[in-house]
Amino acid sequence: MKRHALTAAVLSTALMGATLSAPASAQDTQYITIGTGGQTGVYYVVGQSVCRMVNRSAEESGIRCNAPSTGGSVANINGIKSGELNMGVAQSDVQYNAYNGEAQFDQPMENLRSVFSLHGEPLTVLARKDADIHSIQDLKGKRVNIGNPGSGQRATMEVLMNAEGWDTSVFSLASELGAAEMASALADNNIDAMAYVVGHPNGAIQEATTTVESNLVPLDDDVVKGLVDKYPYYSMSTIPGGMYEGNPDDVQTFGVRATFVTSADVPDEVVYQTVKAVFDNFDRFKRLHPAFANLKPEDMISEGLSAPLHEGAKRYYKEQGWL
Ligand code: GLU
Repeated sequence: MKRHALTAAVLSTALMGATLSAPASAQDTQYITIGTGGQTGVYYVVGQSVCRMVNRSAEESGIRCNAPSTGGSVANINGIKSGELNMGVAQSDVQYNAYNGEAQFDQPMENLRSVFSLHGEPLTVLARKDADIHSIQDLKGKRVNIGNPGSGQRATMEVLMNAEGWDTSVFSLASELGAAEMASALADNNIDAMAYVVGHPNGAIQEATTTVESNLVPLDDDVVKGLVDKYPYYSMSTIPGGMYEGNPDDVQTFGVRATFVTSADVPDEVVYQTVKAVFDNFDRFKRLHPAFANLKPEDMISEGLSAPLHEGAKRYYKEQGWL
């Protein structure tokens, strides 16, 4: 309850800044709101980190930034569409579907724009040791958190379930807890497994693996390999061993990239200043989360982006000679 009240308060403050035009002067402060995810994920840190960089130069740019917790990828894109959010983080598969009007999206969102991509996000299934789950097939008959509607994990789980020829009835329970609630549900034995499309390391998997004996589940059957062959935004991916307590070995799964998106309706100057704040301070930015450590600008402006680059982002990349 408390979290909901907080989010509503943050969002309603944010709404005041939702309609943007380019700032005329430093006196004329613009507020941008970036949609993130649950507080124990990496998107939340992405949003906070981008805002930190933007707010450092708020005096000159006249742009101030906030990044509330949200339901995740699909919720962020819907928030951008409705104007409640100006920018947001979204999985590359969800970005593709939104731009093309597939899966969760009835209509193509023609004004969706890419800004850059970020870290890789493997589909991560973590199971209680006592549930004895070591493959996708072992999930059948178990209590599985498939993610809140609005989250990227829910979107990707639906793709995987469809490809396996499953619906939610293959599980004894398909729960829809939000990202920040899954780890405690696993520890309290309310679920056997949780699914999260997320960068590593992250707070949710850390919390779960330190409070209950649990193992990462490999997701690498022929159905997964078929998805990776079929869709450009999926690739096989490894969660390195030793990142989490009780999980010393590499685990093979598949995943997407996190991407940063906005709308063509957001003024070029606002996107330009946001991108500039991140890349002018890139070393500082990368130190804000271990999942950012290997980010490289040349990959970030090309990989995982289905929607066209926003003009304001392009302007900065051209200035840098990256385009
Ligand atoms: N990939 C998740 C989603 O789209 C969020 C992961 C995170 O918060 O780091 O909802």
